[in-house]
Amino acid sequence: MRGMMGKVLIVDLGSGTMEEKPVSAEIYGAYLGGVGLAARLLTDMIPAGADPLGPDNVLAFMSGLLTGTGSMMTGRWTVCCKSPLTGGWGDANCGGTLSPEIKRCGWDGILFRGVSPTPVAFAADENGPRLVDASASWGLDAVEAEDRVKAAWTGKKKPAVAAIGPAAEKLSLISGISNDGGRYAARSGVGAVMGSKRLKSIALAGSRPIPCADPARVKEISKAFAQKVAKINLPGIMTGAFMPLMGRMLGMKTVVPIDGILASAILKKWGTIYNNTAGIVNGDSPVRNWGGSVKDFGPAKYRRLNPDRIRERETRKYHCYSCVVGCGGVCDATGTGAKGEHMHKPEYETCCAFGALALSDDLDSIFLCNDICNRSGLDTISAGSVVAFAFECYERGILTAADTGGLELRWGDGKGVAALLAMIAERRGIGDVLADGVALAAKRIGKGSDEIAVHAGGQEPGMHDGRMDPMMAVAFAADPTPGRHTISAGVYYNVSHLWEFVSWAPPVTRPYAKAREYLPSEEEALKSVAGACVKQLLDATGSCLFALTIGLQHWRLFDWLNAATGEGRSPDEWMEAGRRIQTARAAFGAREKAADAGSDRARDYRLANPRIYGLPPLERGPLAGKTVPLEAMVGLYRKEFGWDEKSGAPSRSTMERLGV
Ligand code: SF4
Repeated sequence: MRGMMGKVLIVDLGSGTMEEKPVSAEIYGAYLGGVGLAARLLTDMIPAGADPLGPDNVLAFMSGLLTGTGSMMTGRWTVCCKSPLTGGWGDANCGGTLSPEIKRCGWDGILFRGVSPTPVAFAADENGPRLVDASASWGLDAVEAEDRVKAAWTGKKKPAVAAIGPAAEKLSLISGISNDGGRYAARSGVGAVMGSKRLKSIALAGSRPIPCADPARVKEISKAFAQKVAKINLPGIMTGAFMPLMGRMLGMKTVVPIDGILASAILKKWGTIYNNTAGIVNGDSPVRNWGGSVKDFGPAKYRRLNPDRIRERETRKYHCYSCVVGCGGVCDATGTGAKGEHMHKPEYETCCAFGALALSDDLDSIFLCNDICNRSGLDTISAGSVVAFAFECYERGILTAADTGGLELRWGDGKGVAALLAMIAERRGIGDVLADGVALAAKRIGKGSDEIAVHAGGQEPGMHDGRMDPMMAVAFAADPTPGRHTISAGVYYNVSHLWEFVSWAPPVTRPYAKAREYLPSEEEALKSVAGACVKQLLDATGSCLFALTIGLQHWRLFDWLNAATGEGRSPDEWMEAGRRIQTARAAFGAREKAADAGSDRARDYRLANPRIYGLPPLERGPLAGKTVPLEAMVGLYRKEFGWDEKSGAPSRSTMERLGV
């Protein structure tokens, strides 16, 4: 398939050998690249019941089908493996600059199997691939490790680097993989898998051309898109102080279709932190370990997280490869307690996880927590969640100062949040109990703490409340990587304009009552299925979720796909690949669940902690009284996919029909 390099590199870290493996046209046609290609290859390569932290697990760094073809917002890489956190399919993705380098080095993915006897680093450039000793870097934080690789690089072109920090070396199941000095592929415990393989970093500086069927056409589509994004800017009145009002509008009882191009203007200005205050006001942001609301974190507190206050620290904008939006930024970290002078701007998820979730309005503490996570290698969502869990344990007397080494865990104490996080990052004292996420922490602590351990299938949910967006709750519970906020949601679907292209995607063209979203119906299930399928297309092509929220009428994914590959498929046909990938991810999880049953690797596969879907319902705030009928909605979603409604395992006939 044009757009792809035609092969992957398989590196055996146990023996130090490497082998290029050509990929057939049939596999590319069915699974495309990125997460899809990995789902196909890893299902064969990882034996059923493999220890996720053992030599049989495979860690795959995948580029995307559209990456490097001249298309826009298509520069993300995905890392895939069996997840040590959930026991099922694991993947996480990240922007930055790594993805095109995978292809420029000649491959569509680099797959690591085995365990190295000593710490190693992988490098590839015009001299080919090699493994080098990384003993001296073991123990460095992820930012230092990347800096060291770049400083020692002798090639003409500086490499793109992905690295792990000490938390991943210590096999924290909530650790991720850093790129570009602290941008993260954070979820699924992918960092622990890299740590278990003793692979400290990968550095890539390639120079091969990336094939594209019709570069002129791709360029033409890109130019039109870039012009649209360049033109749209927010009026001066739209300051951070305006965001709570916008939040209120988004939380109304009637959902009004809006043009997603506005999202690009908001992202250009603030990035994801625009939601810091808007999300508190309308209930999107979970508060107080998912047990509170804006009534506990009112204006006096949430205004301290005004996105303009963070923007004041921004010293430069940051764009991922091929992105015209540039939602990222680099901030001055002076006075926050951070290790370096600068850091990547904290994302909304980070601000909420170390802010409202622990009732903290201490912005310096949020910056410090961002730095601790980015350097040690912790996923900010999971780390913030486990901190909030510990705070509630402390409030209930489940944990005491005797357990915490004297550290008092008091809601709203930002310094306490950062102090506990540092212990988690170092696996020190109570930090060791908490360092593998809330599900395992509750198992270790006992005393009924499971009741307040907020996770779905073993993973802590993203900082968006499913009680406000039931499609989000369905994705948390039913996606093969549970707890993920980036898979599908009503708020993404409604701006995607998917229905203009895909014949079976339900249209959202008129205002409708929000209450409709809480009723289990085939239409809502179909929206969830469509959202999940298009997200798999995004992850197979290297695309950014924010591009989808701009809308497919502007960000022309299907046109780029046909121009780059020369395939001439209809959007329905492209979506069929998304459906196949999603089913392959689910099939992998079902296989591993069956293989691990009864072993100490078996994870908690219940749908989700009931707090996530409103049992019991909140008594105060914008989501008071809201309960999502999750079991019924998940059942309908799975039925639409042709999976077992109870277990989520794809049926044989579905697998055969899709050729999984
Ligand atoms: S919108 Fe943000 S995350 Fe997405 S590609 Fe652009 S800079 Fe990266």
